[in-house]
Amino acid sequence: MSKETEFYNYITTLPETTLSQVRGKPHEVLKLIDEYPQNFMNIGPHKGTQIVTRIKEKAPKTMIELGGYLGYSAVLFANEIADDPDAKYYSFELNPEFAKIATYVIDLAGLSDKVEIIVGRASYTLPAFRQRLFSENKHYTGLDFIFIDHWKDLYVPDLRVLESLNLIAPGTLIVADNIITPGAPEYVVYVNFSPDEKKLYNETTKNPEGKEFIGRWNILYDTKTIEVATANHKDAIEVTKCVDYFSG
Ligand code: SAM
Repeated sequence: MSKETEFYNYITTLPETTLSQVRGKPHEVLKLIDEYPQNFMNIGPHKGTQIVTRIKEKAPKTMIELGGYLGYSAVLFANEIADDPDAKYYSFELNPEFAKIATYVIDLAGLSDKVEIIVGRASYTLPAFRQRLFSENKHYTGLDFIFIDHWKDLYVPDLRVLESLNLIAPGTLIVADNIITPGAPEYVVYVNFSPDEKKLYNETTKNPEGKEFIGRWNILYDTKTIEVATANHKDAIEVTKCVDYFSG
């Protein structure tokens, strides 16, 4: 049995006295995950705090994450927008088993109205999601906040998907995890490209997530790698703001 399924069995069979103490309390639910005697690949409290600070500053209305896993980051981050009736958090998760566990965790935290889990490969589900956003809001101009935390080899391909779908626009803030451990060097290079370098890269590098998702060379980013010491290793997040379109 996978450690994730074991965790699901554990959390769903906790005595009602314990559940009633954590129900509707996002930080208490996160504590159950932090204190569980297995390590999971979630953002954790150290890097999580850095990202929470940026969510507080930005107060995003529409926030997505690529890679939902067991719902830890969704609970931590969606809690920050819980009081805004217009704000919504969308969690893209490939694995239906993980999505089932996250659904339980998010519900226990009392955030199921705030968070929607979209199951499937992000590059397959993002186009329909984009259609929905654009049809629901005619003045829609891009996502406010994007948290990238799925498989490292998909960071650049899926950023190109997001760019191609016009989900990134001036004002969009993108935070990517695991920049040092296990590392996402190609991603850091991509967000630091000049418009000319990016144009060349996008025209000459096929996107494995779909050749139609070439990316947008004229999106200008301002980006910074921020090191964060976690409990057992050094890591960094990449904080990238779309500042403008390059006009030549
Ligand atoms: N953000 C989570 C947290 O902090 O609690 C941790 C995410 S975990 C590092 C990575 C997750 O990305 C896994 O659950 C995996 O199934 C998911 N994933 C991998 N490739 C994906 C894809 N193409 N689309 C959506 N999710 C994907």
